[in-house]
Amino acid sequence: MIVFARTCAVIAATASKLEKISLVATYLRDLTNGDLAPATRYFTGNPFPQAQDRSLAVGGRTIVDTAAMTWGVDDAALGIAYRSTGDLGAALGPFVRPSHDLGLFRDPLTPARLYALLVEVADAAGKNAQKRRRILCERIFSSCTDPLEATYVIKIMTGDLRIGLREGLVVDAIAQAFERDPRAVRRAASAAGDLGAVALAAKHDTLDQVTIAYHAPIAFMLASPIAYGSEYKDLAGATWLTDDKYDGVRAQAHVTPNRVSLFSRTLNDVATSYPEVVEALRRLPGSFALDGEIAAVRGDQILPFRFLQARLQRKDVSVDLLREMPVRYIAFDALAAEDDFLLDHPLAERRARLAELLANAGESLLLAPWTALEVGAGPEVVHERFEAARARGNEGLVFKRTEAPYTPGRRGKAWLKLKRELATLDCVVVAVERGHGRRVNVLSDYTFAVRDGSQLAVIGKAYSGLSNVEIAEMTQWFEQHRLPPPQAETAYARLNLKRHEILVEPNVVVEIAFDIIQKSKLHASGFALRFPRIVRLRPDKPPAEADTLERVYELYAAMLAREGIDS
Ligand code: AMP
Repeated sequence: MIVFARTCAVIAATASKLEKISLVATYLRDLTNGDLAPATRYFTGNPFPQAQDRSLAVGGRTIVDTAAMTWGVDDAALGIAYRSTGDLGAALGPFVRPSHDLGLFRDPLTPARLYALLVEVADAAGKNAQKRRRILCERIFSSCTDPLEATYVIKIMTGDLRIGLREGLVVDAIAQAFERDPRAVRRAASAAGDLGAVALAAKHDTLDQVTIAYHAPIAFMLASPIAYGSEYKDLAGATWLTDDKYDGVRAQAHVTPNRVSLFSRTLNDVATSYPEVVEALRRLPGSFALDGEIAAVRGDQILPFRFLQARLQRKDVSVDLLREMPVRYIAFDALAAEDDFLLDHPLAERRARLAELLANAGESLLLAPWTALEVGAGPEVVHERFEAARARGNEGLVFKRTEAPYTPGRRGKAWLKLKRELATLDCVVVAVERGHGRRVNVLSDYTFAVRDGSQLAVIGKAYSGLSNVEIAEMTQWFEQHRLPPPQAETAYARLNLKRHEILVEPNVVVEIAFDIIQKSKLHASGFALRFPRIVRLRPDKPPAEADTLERVYELYAAMLAREGIDS
């Protein structure tokens, strides 16, 4: 482990990612087959393959006590070293005493030999487990011959190398070491859930044979936001399908004949919280991995997120709760089926596999219905679909490119999410201004208000998202319906507006979309909207029916209640 430790020390000393990659690559290239897999894993901070569910189960106390027993560590000196480094490895390493000093004859500690000992530590069980762990740790420590070696061995045992090496860099280093395509290494890494196995496959040029390790979570593919009411330029030049955007929690299901895991967005297994989903998945034949969303339901109706809250992070779900607030797993992607790892396959194909997998699924499992989007579909089609999704109780839409692969951990342009965070507000236009650029001759910037008793309270301003024809028509209307000077005088003060804003008769209602509501002293209402966008004119709505300040309070409170919850 001396060469590993020296390599780590050099990696820690450079800030350059490229240099870090090249150092790891050079080290990996020269290793024997036996050392390659464990050494690669040590770089990631976890000595065991993720898929194995093994953990070391030795705490700081055991490490310090055993090191003290083996090397005769001075407590006070250790205290000082630990306080100055905050790192057990760095603090204990310098106390090392080589085995021949201790009158022992130990084999040198290679990555493979350390791995064999760590596996024994992790697997120690039964009455004497703790004693056995101490004996094994003593054997590990007495095999170290050098302070740096001892430092890094202990860092591996505490699970943190602190050398600025993310898993992505180790993946790149494997590619460089064995001259393979980094994409092939990345793909194998998502499938295997074990960089050790991937390094061996890269060395032997068998990356394409690496298949899925069930129950090791794969990073989720994410969607980029697009703004509601735009021209949807992002959709040009590709074929898309649309999914409803469900208002629940993301979950990745791994199913094998005798085990079901459900991974949350943070990659924790939350299966115990959703027994009805686990049961429904268990009843399906074979092995497979799915991506989807867990949502609360009442009958066939999918409910908003707040209903799901009662079920989040519940370890013991009572029969009553299961009856009161049932959930459903809505699957929208297939990541693997038996030995087929599907990430590289186009979405259209993955969906077809998904439909096969979920044939005959029970009622707690739902195949997400999707619709193809006609090429060149305009804003009206998007608007219609969006409203239909909302009417079904969902948050909005997710557009997915039908030819795109599943890219783990990436927020790319192959999935686009379209949502209105809360709801929209129907507001009354109280003042207008000329726009900029092409819009300098039209009144395209609106200041709008909500009702506050018999008054109006300004809540925001937005550039028009209306069509050019609508803007021209509205400009004419506003020109003809300016407030007369005496009325305007009092209105400027009452609405707290600037003189360059043209006050108009409060008769036009517009629907405003936004991302969040914030408290703000900027406007008389005491609130402001983030990223307000005019969705459409509401000629059907008289100003007396526009939204009120109470509704703004309600939406604000609902938003606070949701805050901090990862969906
Ligand atoms: P957001 O939380 O607004 O960033 O949106 C991303 C989240 O939308 C994902 O992590 C999923 O939990 C959720 N989501 C809901 N429906 C879908 C869907 N059909 N496809 C992908 N993600 C979805």
